[in-house]
Amino acid sequence: MEYKDIMHKTPVKHGLINYESTYKNFNWKDINRCFDHFSDNEVNIAHEAIDRHANNGYKNKIALHWEDEDNVKKQYTFSDIKRQSDKLANVLRNLGVEKGDRIFLFLPRVTELYISIIAIAKVGAIAGPMFSAFGPEAVKDRLHDSEAKVLITTPDLNQRVHEIKEELPALKHILLVNAEHNLKQDEISYESETNKASESFKIRWVDPEDDLFILYTSGTTGKPKGVTHVHNDMISHYITTKWALDLREDDVYWCTADPGWVTGTVYGIWGPWLNGISQVVYNGRYDAEKWYSIIEKYKVTVWYTAPTALRMLMKAGDEIIKKYDLSSLRYICSVGEPLNPEVIRWGLKVYNLPIHDNWWQTETGSIMIANYPSLPIKPGSMGKPFPGICAKIINTKGKEVATGKQGLLGLKRGWPSMLRKVWANKKKYNEYFKISGWYTTGDTAYVDDDGYFWFVGRADDVINTAGHRVGPFEVESALVEHKAIAEAGVIGIPDKERSEIIKAFVVLNKGYKPSPKLKKDIQGFIKKRLSAHAYPRKIEFTKDVPKTRSGKIMRRLLKARELGLPTGDLSTLEN
Ligand code: ATP
Ligand code: MG
Repeated sequence: MEYKDIMHKTPVKHGLINYESTYKNFNWKDINRCFDHFSDNEVNIAHEAIDRHANNGYKNKIALHWEDEDNVKKQYTFSDIKRQSDKLANVLRNLGVEKGDRIFLFLPRVTELYISIIAIAKVGAIAGPMFSAFGPEAVKDRLHDSEAKVLITTPDLNQRVHEIKEELPALKHILLVNAEHNLKQDEISYESETNKASESFKIRWVDPEDDLFILYTSGTTGKPKGVTHVHNDMISHYITTKWALDLREDDVYWCTADPGWVTGTVYGIWGPWLNGISQVVYNGRYDAEKWYSIIEKYKVTVWYTAPTALRMLMKAGDEIIKKYDLSSLRYICSVGEPLNPEVIRWGLKVYNLPIHDNWWQTETGSIMIANYPSLPIKPGSMGKPFPGICAKIINTKGKEVATGKQGLLGLKRGWPSMLRKVWANKKKYNEYFKISGWYTTGDTAYVDDDGYFWFVGRADDVINTAGHRVGPFEVESALVEHKAIAEAGVIGIPDKERSEIIKAFVVLNKGYKPSPKLKKDIQGFIKKRLSAHAYPRKIEFTKDVPKTRSGKIMRRLLKARELGLPTGDLSTLEN
């Protein structure tokens, strides 16, 4: 199939209709006009995402369809979210929460999490969502680093906080969801307090440059960094949601990411609600059948997920898909890791839709490079820069390198949602801006003749073997095309002769057994697919590859284990 055939089947009549001309004429300032109350010194993202809708024609529109693993369901309109968040904002204000205070959230994807994030913005405080699977150390690191004043959690999760509380002098209050009895001295019941609170709250207007949330990065390459974003991010959140995720008024949207990761906060809360979109939240673990049933039940039209989830769905097989009516789906996007071409081809077959990969980071605050409905997809490419974003492949001096050549992926600094600080770590922040005029992403990539960007690897992960630079992703993608392989993680290991050689850790599909013969077969397969220099000289069969809780292959851990080096910060390790 030619790449030009891989695109949206129907002509695009909404959103980003003409990429090239929009890119050419785009001006961020034009987006400010889409907001209700935006001035140089008076904004609040919560007003734009919730209150303005509750005050106008969307007041009875469903903002949130919620369901958990036990099939308990809830529904909230924009007015409901306004009322609930106003009450909680009053509770927070009465507790003495002020502008700039950090309020951290250690919650599963319960409705209170979503309401809390809105309420925290309303009082001008800074939200710090944390993934509920974190252990005590990971929680302590984040609460300590940010000097959080309030923690909102559940009695269950709070047990992990008991043992670390002594070390958190800044933590003044713990608000407990679903706990009306047996509270300790500094613990407060979320329900009792919000029930008593007034429904009327005067929102705190803030400066666009005031802090909004802190999110710690995934920890794929090292210790997670407390990336801090501001209310001004709303400009990027709003327009990228509209154009890169292609969301429209009547959509039912499902983002599978947890708000503990940037995708779950930006595109699982702010972006869709700024656009007045109804969204679905499923509070439960990954389960192929459950996931398909969510799409069927809520008639999800736009689905934003990640390569790791798509690979798991692919492994779960095509047969189960036939049991569900997925005909509501019209647009699928993916982020977080490179999207293997094999997965795109599979998606076309089983969902009859292309999967649109997009690239961004916790630090960038919004989608930077994407595949859009109006552009054909080249499987394996991240797509093209979002309007207003100048992305280039540069060398360490900031000079652009030639088309087709690998280099650093750099972004001209200054888009609305660029990180404003790394919390309490100016030095780390400055490291992103060492090349004058540029924000450096830490990723290696190249651009082709048509202006499409191709991800090669994390700058640290790129393998140098016998004078060739090989990205682990291309080898992993080729490996998963082998019928026996479900998943693969690839690293370089030092070698006297070749500088580095390629080692692959592979997880086999059901029905396949490790054997020297299979190893040979895989090596031959990769030699044919890629090239003789990019095949893995070493292959290790393994039950799983280590991943971050946000689903990224942790190559640094594979490498550390292989070479007997210190494993570093493992607070975000999943398995
Ligand atoms: P840390 O910075 O702590 O090492 P992390 O970089 O994985 O963790 P995130 O901000 O969650 O933390 O992830 C951003 C990174 O994810 C990007 O720099 C890139 O390496 C990878 N990534 C995201 N989307 C894509 C994509 N579409 N294709 C390839 N890589 C992607
Ligand atoms: Mg990173």
